[in-house]
Amino acid sequence: MKIDLHVHTVYSDGSGTVEEVIRRALEKGLDGIAITDHNSIKGYFEAKKILKEKIILIPGFEVKTEKGHILIYGLTEIPEKNISYEELIEWVRKRRGIAILAHPAAGRKYMKTWMRSKPDAVEVLNALYPIGSLMIKMGMKIANKLELPMTGGSDAHQPENVGDAYTLVKVEEKSSEGILEAIKKGLTEPGGGLSPLKIRLKLGLKFILRSLD
Ligand SMILES: [Zn+2]
Ligand SMILES: [Zn+2]
Repeated sequence: MKIDLHVHTVYSDGSGTVEEVIRRALEKGLDGIAITDHNSIKGYFEAKKILKEKIILIPGFEVKTEKGHILIYGLTEIPEKNISYEELIEWVRKRRGIAILAHPAAGRKYMKTWMRSKPDAVEVLNALYPIGSLMIKMGMKIANKLELPMTGGSDAHQPENVGDAYTLVKVEEKSSEGILEAIKKGLTEPGGGLSPLKIRLKLGLKFILRSLD
């Protein structure tokens, strides 16, 4: 199954409405999508209302920590503000969610913490990477060192880029739970590619610089 695990809407810093994002996901032939707004789960609930089982919806959101951005899946509750990376991983474990390290290429200096307190997977391919091949290689190194599954996501901030990158998941059960279970087992592979250069330079650089502060 082809799943875009990383999409933003107007509920955080994206420009597309949930409806526009879903329409685009269907046009691109995705089997599943996670709307991962910053600290918001509203997109998931809105999508649930308008969707009629044509595409699998995975509850998700993105949290900024001092040790990088973390994508959380399978939970509909948002953690408290300014939660630390290690606290967040523990918080997700307790609730049986999944945590994926988002666009980690810029943050190798946090490796020790990531080793000590491991997420469930690493987003190796982020379609917004300004310097694609180099950053993907860095992400793969990080995933290998952590011995974790590799995923891909568009990190789309406008509907047209939904599905530019995605994760190919081998699922036994075609459901949100089945997809998350397969990710945990490492039955994943990043797919797709990078968004057009213009978008990557405009958005990618901005987000990467922001993720460094
Ligand atoms: Zn991010
Ligand atoms: Zn993001």
